[in-house]
Amino acid sequence: MSVIANRVLSMAASATLAMSKRSQEMQAQGIDVINLSVGEPDFNTPEDIKAAGVAAINNNFTHYPPVPGFMDLRKAICQKLKRDNGVDFAPEQIIVSNGGKHAIINVLLAMVNPGDEVIIPAPYWVSYPEMVKFVEGVPVEVRATIASDFKITAAQLEAAITDKTKLLIFNSPSNPTGMVYSKAEMKALADVLKKHPNVYILSDEIYELITFDCEFESFAQFTELKDRLIIMNGVSKGFAMTGWRIGYIAAPNEIAAACNKVQGQMTSAASGIAQKASVAAMMQDPKQSADLKNMVARFKQRRDMVREGLKAIPGFKVNNPTGAFYIFPDISALFGKKYGQYTIKSGDDMAEFLLAEGHVALVGGDSFGDANSIRISYATDEAKLTESIRRIKEAVAKLA
Ligand code: PLP
Repeated sequence: MSVIANRVLSMAASATLAMSKRSQEMQAQGIDVINLSVGEPDFNTPEDIKAAGVAAINNNFTHYPPVPGFMDLRKAICQKLKRDNGVDFAPEQIIVSNGGKHAIINVLLAMVNPGDEVIIPAPYWVSYPEMVKFVEGVPVEVRATIASDFKITAAQLEAAITDKTKLLIFNSPSNPTGMVYSKAEMKALADVLKKHPNVYILSDEIYELITFDCEFESFAQFTELKDRLIIMNGVSKGFAMTGWRIGYIAAPNEIAAACNKVQGQMTSAASGIAQKASVAAMMQDPKQSADLKNMVARFKQRRDMVREGLKAIPGFKVNNPTGAFYIFPDISALFGKKYGQYTIKSGDDMAEFLLAEGHVALVGGDSFGDANSIRISYATDEAKLTESIRRIKEAVAKLA
């Protein structure tokens, strides 16, 4: 009998974290690896937000906060949801957690019974299917490819819904594809969901603030769905606060109360200091924030640069991601090509090859539900991006 429980034995380790670790290990051995596998902005937390965190320490916010979060933060989140997304939530409907990841597992623990189906559009963020399996739900993948800009259609969603469907996990802007659903595309999905009153929606809006040439659209605008909508968001990406570990949900009362109960037994509240810093983040109107504008402008320049560079590599098919900080080239045209001990049969094979031959760390698409692709994060400085494109091109040219 194994010491380790089946639920953990059957869980895949996070491919993104694994790749970051491997590139750090190679760097520690003195190898000059460029790491394009990171899922966090390379910017620092804005000064005024940091100052709010320091003030929280000095003001002794060092005791247990209330399980669902400090009231001032939950009120600030309600104001943010009204200001930015035009939707009304009450503070009792907000649960603040230790990052967005924790907020998602709380929701799944609170809602999913064994055998319940959870629809996950693919390519997806690596953790969704693993979390669903962890709570004994059944992940139901709905596949989109580069041909549809990695977006699923209303017809695909309709076809995936059964009488066992409990939840749809939706993510736009997307990790790993960087794609952003338009209002019309989301409305088409919402129209399908309206016909299925038992299906809930968990909308992961963590990349809300990072979009280019397009508007972010929240699921909250479909008011007919509000009693079945759980919005998940947080400060990690838009405010460069990944290490502060604050995420939240806004949900129907019953679901918020259930998440509060789960959190009360499992973790208690998120760090009070980080919560106080997050109040400062939530109070900022993104339209007025110079820090945000600067970060998004830089991401957009890099997207353009990386996209142009990748387009020029034979066998790389790229589309035009308009959000987050990822690009997801389809490299299936190179399948069957070889160099030395390497034969490329999947995105993971390409990631291994590029790490070994190009000293560039990126993540194969396999664990994102698309083995034809690789994920490149451009949350790193321009000089490194230019050099990594050169290295990728040089390594790929060796394949025959
Ligand atoms: N959702 C998506 C799509 C993400 O990419 C991430 C982080 O990589 C998260 C949620 C989790 O965010 P957090 O760092 O706040 O836990």
